[in-house]
Amino acid sequence: MNHHDALIIGAGYAGAVSARRLAEDGGRNVLVLERRGHVGGNAYDCLDDAGILIHQYGPHIFHTNDRRVFDYLSRFTRWRRYQHKVIANLPRDNPEVVPAGKTTDGRMFFPVPFNLDSMKSAFGMKEGERLGRKLLDACPAQSEVTILELRQNPDPEIAAIADYVYEHVFVHYTMKQWGQTPEEIDPNTTARVPVRLSQDDRYFQDAYQGMPLEGYTPMFEKMLDHPSITVELGTDALKRLELADGGIKLDGEAFDGPVIYTGQADELFGFRFGPLPYRTLDFGFETLPQDAFQTHGTVNYTVDQPYTRITEFKHLTGQEKPGATTIMKEYSRACTGAEGEIPYYAIINPENNALYAQYAALAAQYPNLHLLGRLAEYKYYNMDAIAGKALALTDDLL
Ligand code: FAD
Ligand code: UDP
Repeated sequence: MNHHDALIIGAGYAGAVSARRLAEDGGRNVLVLERRGHVGGNAYDCLDDAGILIHQYGPHIFHTNDRRVFDYLSRFTRWRRYQHKVIANLPRDNPEVVPAGKTTDGRMFFPVPFNLDSMKSAFGMKEGERLGRKLLDACPAQSEVTILELRQNPDPEIAAIADYVYEHVFVHYTMKQWGQTPEEIDPNTTARVPVRLSQDDRYFQDAYQGMPLEGYTPMFEKMLDHPSITVELGTDALKRLELADGGIKLDGEAFDGPVIYTGQADELFGFRFGPLPYRTLDFGFETLPQDAFQTHGTVNYTVDQPYTRITEFKHLTGQEKPGATTIMKEYSRACTGAEGEIPYYAIINPENNALYAQYAALAAQYPNLHLLGRLAEYKYYNMDAIAGKALALTDDLL
């Protein structure tokens, strides 16, 4: 006999926040099934063979403007103050321009998001300053502008700036990341990294930013550590669930409590309407026998190289470890559906959204089933957005 009265599939942000609330604030006996051998979903971190704290599924930096989310997570972790900064590393393609920043071996560097200081590297000190003033005049009372908006500007000098930024920041990086140009992908995606009309060189501008002091995994472990939560790791929920005629069965018995599913929507229904397209990533981890590798947490290779970016974890985590550092290169490609491939990014476009809507309509036939999270909702959510959605869903359920 099943003694649980809430079932959660997946122990990432969506699952862990929901589980804690249903157990603690709802008095529910919650079962969490997680396919992987660990909690935390894609935010999972761990020590590598060299003893360096790494993010197994890509670099995760916490940032939010949502006070409720920040306060909720702060119950389970203290924070290291950290503001992520990114620079572009690209070939110096115009020998006549002397960039304001440093150059090495024919390469140049500037802050990303592209800002007024990046302008001086791109166009040289004097011209960069002049064009910066021109850009400010062209976009009054704005603190940022998206590259796609900037490209619409009819002024030839503004158009030249837009062309530069498009060519040196966006088009090649976006082709590597998505296999498509900035015009072909969802405009909200490039809007995540606008052109900044200031010297602010932080990647994010949110009110609350930081890294869990001991790492993400201990934060998740604390969140899930409650007498009314049972977590079963290494368990594929789909092997234990049956969905038919509006009813859900767990291990062959009817389950009437809330079921929060945070995995792929297409997989839940046996890919009935066809697979939802995703991008996956291959990560190249390297541990080097040196204190540090690069000046910033992440360096974006915006023009060349097969990878999009290199992250050096010690910058993010603040770990002191002389004589060793671990870096990670990210290579993006289309998901093929091969065994073990991880779907990281939903490819948001009208056709894929329509396919997703078919799965969402099927899910809606199960009154106690809730699709929640980056995979289940087929959306491009940051961690805080998912935590916020889990708080809102559990508000409704409680
Ligand atoms: P997930 O973390 O994917 O968790 C879903 C869980 O469900 C997984 O553990 C999975 O194993 C499990 N599951 C799936 N199917 C089953 C099943 N059948 N049975 C049992 N378990 C199942 N956000 C930020 O805010 N800042 C960042 O810097 C940032 N960087 C990122 C970098 C990369 C490379 C990527 C890909 C994402 C990044 N994100 C970042 C986004 C962040 O990863 C997500 O917002 C967050 O992980 C979503 O949480 P989730 O619970 O929805 O999904
Ligand atoms: N982007 C780009 N060049 C950059 C950084 C970002 O072209 O140097 C574009 C690219 O299309 C990318 C999107 O902006 O997918 C969003 O970038 P973000 O860093 O937010 O991506 P994430 O960290 O979510 O992978």
